[in-house]
Amino acid sequence: MINNSIKIYILKRRILLFAAILFVGICFVQAQPVKKHGKLSVNGTALTDEHGDTVVLSGVSYGWHNWWPRFYNKETVKWLVDDWNCTVVRAAMGVEPKKGYLDSPEWSKEKIEAVIEGAIENDIYVIIDWHSHGLQMKGALEFFEEMAKKYGKYPHIIYEIYNEPDHQSWDEVKAYSIEVVSKIREFDPDNIILIGTPHWDQDLHLAADDPLEGFSNLMYTLHFYAATHKQQLRDRGDYAMQKGLAVFVSECAGMSANGNGPIDYDEWNNWIEWMQKNKISWVCWSVADKNETCSMLYESAGSKGGWTENDLKESGIKTRELLRTGKLTRNSE
Ligand code: MG
Repeated sequence: MINNSIKIYILKRRILLFAAILFVGICFVQAQPVKKHGKLSVNGTALTDEHGDTVVLSGVSYGWHNWWPRFYNKETVKWLVDDWNCTVVRAAMGVEPKKGYLDSPEWSKEKIEAVIEGAIENDIYVIIDWHSHGLQMKGALEFFEEMAKKYGKYPHIIYEIYNEPDHQSWDEVKAYSIEVVSKIREFDPDNIILIGTPHWDQDLHLAADDPLEGFSNLMYTLHFYAATHKQQLRDRGDYAMQKGLAVFVSECAGMSANGNGPIDYDEWNNWIEWMQKNKISWVCWSVADKNETCSMLYESAGSKGGWTENDLKESGIKTRELLRTGKLTRNSE
C-alpha cells in the first residue's frame, strides 16, 4: 500500500511538472508572435505569415493619443502582451483635434513611437493608425514617409492610413489611398497597409467593386460596434471577401457605435464566430479611461499597466477574457 501511494505521489508530481513545462512553453510561444510568424503578407483574402500559414492577430487599440497620452508608453504595451495576451496593438494617432498630429507633430510622434518601440521590444505587431475622419493628404504623406523610412524594415509594422473616412466618397478615399500607399511603397516595399472605406469603414462593398490595383499586401478595414452593426455589415464583409478583398477589423467593440450603452453579448458573439470562421484579425477599442462604455479602464488604472480587475470596466474585463481564452461569456455565466 505504501509503495503504491509513493508511486501515485511520484506520478502526480511528474504530471504536474509536465503540465508546468507545457504551460511555460505555451506562454513562451504566445509571447513571441513576431518571432513565430515573421514578415506578414496578404495571400488572396488571407493574412499569412512568412511560412505561408494564415495568421489571426488579436489585440486592443489605444484611444486617441491626444486625449489619453498617459497610456502611450512601453510599459502598457508590455502589460497588454503579458497580461492580456495581445499579439497586436494599435497606436491611434489623433490627427485633427488639438494636440493631434497637425497641431503638435513632434509630441504626437513621441507618443506613437513609444508604443511602436514597446511593440518591437515585446515582439508583437503594431498598427500605426492615422486616426482621422477627414482627408488630410499633405500631413499623411509627410507622416507615413517618415514612418516607412524609420520602421519599414521591421516585420512588426502595419500601417493604417485612414482610420474612418466619414462622408467622403470612395472615389475620394481611393485617390487619397493611392497617393499614400505609393509614398509608403517608395520606402517600404512590403509591410501590410490597411485601407479605410467610407462611412466609418462600413462601405467595403464599394472598395470591393473598385479596389486599388497594382499594389501588394493591402487589406481593407471593417469596423463594428455590435449593438449597432449586425448581419447586414457581416454580409458586406462576406461580399468583399468573395470579390477578393482581404479584410481586417482594426476597430470593434460590443456596445453601440457612439461608444456607449450596454454591451450586446449575442451580437458580439455573432461577430466573434464570424471572424473566427473567416480567420479575420481584430482589434478592440479602446485603452482609455473616459466615462463611456467603450473605454476599457477606470480612472484608477495606472498609466503604466499593472491593472487589477477593479481598474477594468465591463468592456475591459470581457475583452481581456476574450484575448486570453478565445471566448466571451456573459456577466451571469
Ligand atoms: Mg518592410
